[in-house]
Amino acid sequence: MADKTKKLKTEKKSIDSLLKYPSHNIAFGAGIDKSEKSEIIIKFLASEKSDDKKKNDSEAPILKQFPFFAAGAGEVVKSEKTWFAGVGALDDLTVDVLGLALISIAKDAAKSFVSVTVDFDEKILKKIAVDKIARLAITAFGVAAFPVDFLKSKPESEGIKLTSVNFNVSGENKKIWDVIQEPYSRLINHINGMRQVQSLPANYITPETMEKRARAMAAKFGLKMKVFNRAELEKMSANGIVSVGKGSVIPPRMIVLEYTPSKSASKLKTLAFVGKGVTFDTGGISIKPSSDMHEMKYDMSGAAASIHAIAAVAEMKLNIKVVAAIGLAENMPDGAAIKPGDVYTAYNGKTIEVQNTDAEGRLILGDVLSYVDKNYKPDFMVDLATLTGACMVALGSYYAGLFSDHAFLRDTLSHVSAKSLEPIWQLPMGPLYLAQMKSDIADYNNIGDRWGGASSAASFLSVFVDKSTPWAHLDIAGIADIKKGFNVYPAVATGFGVRLLTELALELSK
Ligand SMILES: [Zn+2]
Repeated sequence: MADKTKKLKTEKKSIDSLLKYPSHNIAFGAGIDKSEKSEIIIKFLASEKSDDKKKNDSEAPILKQFPFFAAGAGEVVKSEKTWFAGVGALDDLTVDVLGLALISIAKDAAKSFVSVTVDFDEKILKKIAVDKIARLAITAFGVAAFPVDFLKSKPESEGIKLTSVNFNVSGENKKIWDVIQEPYSRLINHINGMRQVQSLPANYITPETMEKRARAMAAKFGLKMKVFNRAELEKMSANGIVSVGKGSVIPPRMIVLEYTPSKSASKLKTLAFVGKGVTFDTGGISIKPSSDMHEMKYDMSGAAASIHAIAAVAEMKLNIKVVAAIGLAENMPDGAAIKPGDVYTAYNGKTIEVQNTDAEGRLILGDVLSYVDKNYKPDFMVDLATLTGACMVALGSYYAGLFSDHAFLRDTLSHVSAKSLEPIWQLPMGPLYLAQMKSDIADYNNIGDRWGGASSAASFLSVFVDKSTPWAHLDIAGIADIKKGFNVYPAVATGFGVRLLTELALELSK
């Protein structure tokens, strides 16, 4: 506990100290025997029917000592030795309801206790599969113990006490729990690492400091790293990345991290993660309205997810090759910035008329996708990008949009989404959308019609990927940063994608 406090203390708030890789100190356990050692037992309880919430006047109140407690969702009563937390009516209980109850309590407990025991009502364990509860609970406590408020003069992160969490499960349930606990307790640092990078504003996180972060991660997790600077990108005609970065004093770059398992006897599959890393998006000359523009520091979330997921894969030593490639740029208006109507030649030779400089993510991704596709010939390629407001209009903040023409990859992603509990929802793409983006003077322009903007953006990306490459695009504009927490996602930076991509690598490595 003392250690953790020290680690997070940042006297000067220098970028180096702010970017120290998270290392959680929570020892997770499962089993009933240890419960007495804990300072507190947190019992999660459900009520039987929706009606119970109205008045708890049935013959058997849920808690005799607290007859007013109806176990409603979010309802909590605290006694000296036990906290009781409601998850609401069993009929209405979902992963989202349970996740929110878990993370809310975990935030409170992490500040208050060194060791806690967590107990679930049998009814809850019967309603939601134990492996799902394990994933939610471990993630919730891990995330709750890492508040991303480092820039406050008195950060909550300095007051975190929690070092031990024991889950009261036994028999078959404990066996299932243990299987999940092993990988998920490792995933926490990487989810928090992503949240840490997401949360820092754009005067801290730039293409330059993202490179620094990637370099430190490559050293820590044994990854090979290549950096392409602006001159190299120009030379290889990766002009989408170059064009977007032209208005900034900090030059753009592309970074490629590679993980190769040490014992690779048979021919291994290669999985590629591609991420959009716009460390700040003003919109460029097609400048955005100023309200909420500060949120554009999250426009690097796809890149953050990609590099933190490859770190998780490396730490777990999964038997699959992984490449994580990110395009980094700041999209700024300036005398040198790209202008609406300018035409550039992309890495794959296609010419693009930039009709709107705020549709810049696709220009960067186009180059990174075609670079990875050509040079690594991946068996599977998934890109993550905070790409379109249109995706948020369609799905709100609760899902990432999934776009793919490849049935196996699409099905596998849906499968690992259900497993990891990171929600995705399929939306269409294809020639009808791409037809809207024909330019009069170049091969394509970068914006489609007013409607279906998420689908036209995805279809534009397809121009940069060989038809034979299994590829999927995830638009995470809605879920990367959220105004209000849901499931085990805290407001604002969610860390979305690290669990999903790691579970994907795990699935494809089998
Ligand atoms: Zn933009």
